[in-house]
Amino acid sequence: MTRVFSGMQPTGVPHLGNYLGAMKQFIPLQETGESFYCVVDLHALTVPRDPEELRRRTRELAGFYVAAGLDPDKATIFIQSHNPDHAEGAWLLQCVARIGELSRMTQFKDKGQGSESATAGLFTYPVLQAADILLYQTDVVPVGEDQKQHLELTRDLAERFNKQYGDVLTVPEVRIQKVTARIMGLDNPEKKMSKSAASEANYVSLLEEPKSILKKFKRAVTDSENEIRYDPEKKPGVSNLLTIHSAMTGHSIDTLVEKYQGKGYGHLKVDTAEAVIAELEPLQARFHNLMKSGEIDDILATGAKRARAATAETLTHMKKAMGLSLQG
Ligand code: ATP
Ligand code: MG
Repeated sequence: MTRVFSGMQPTGVPHLGNYLGAMKQFIPLQETGESFYCVVDLHALTVPRDPEELRRRTRELAGFYVAAGLDPDKATIFIQSHNPDHAEGAWLLQCVARIGELSRMTQFKDKGQGSESATAGLFTYPVLQAADILLYQTDVVPVGEDQKQHLELTRDLAERFNKQYGDVLTVPEVRIQKVTARIMGLDNPEKKMSKSAASEANYVSLLEEPKSILKKFKRAVTDSENEIRYDPEKKPGVSNLLTIHSAMTGHSIDTLVEKYQGKGYGHLKVDTAEAVIAELEPLQARFHNLMKSGEIDDILATGAKRARAATAETLTHMKKAMGLSLQG
């Protein structure tokens, strides 16, 4: 059976990019394989955060997984730090990873900006990510396009480990959506939508009120022409709106381009906002119910047990292969 693993950081309320690039593709995958969806709270520690807020965001993100359609009877939903094997496996892989390859990670360069005061965790976090994935003997990792480089590193580490220590780890495949792999910022369609963006105008969060969604789409940066056509290179703003609209309604981009021929950008913006509101309103209602009823805490307790049970054997194999002394 295919094993699927993916994770998201509890660094803020998830946005449309996280939803369309990652979360939404989790839902059909739970039908075809054994899947594990993790809230990667250890990763969130790589940048200083308010502890109470981190705890709250962690629980909330699990709630978004379920509100978006993950079924806890089909998929394991859990918090990374509830399974200590992740941190232990990461250490083992840090002794396989090389400083040179970690220095080439573009996300480290972006987030750390070459600063001496960036944490050591920010530097080694792709190795923790590799451990997250490899400990589950994962076959498929559904992610957004920005994670491609980290997934290549994960594959390299698995291959190197197997070469050095014997065939222990499955080398996973990355699965990136074709059209929604990279949702761009509404305030700047040259850069990806991001939870840690400087301005709130960059993203639409999954908890955003209808009024605010409409306002943000109306203000979305486009271009000075007046032609609706899909061309991510030359018309990133309009193409981003078409992508979001298409992903929300299921209408193909071609159909939308035809529909909006001769109409102004204003029409496309308002209709896209309405399509987003129509999908988010029921999701928000499910989310609030889960949070209030406490159901999410039961789901996470079960998830932690299942996650620990799933990684124990691989971690033991890794330790044995590397020459660590085994207990009892
Ligand atoms: P941060 O800015 O804190 O890194 P983020 O918005 O990049 O937050 P992550 O938690 O790092 O979110 O990523 C979760 C998942 O969402 C990953 O699979 C990532 O590839 C995907 N993702 C993030 N941003 C986008 C985007 N703009 N378009 C499509 N997918 C995205
Ligand atoms: Mg990110």
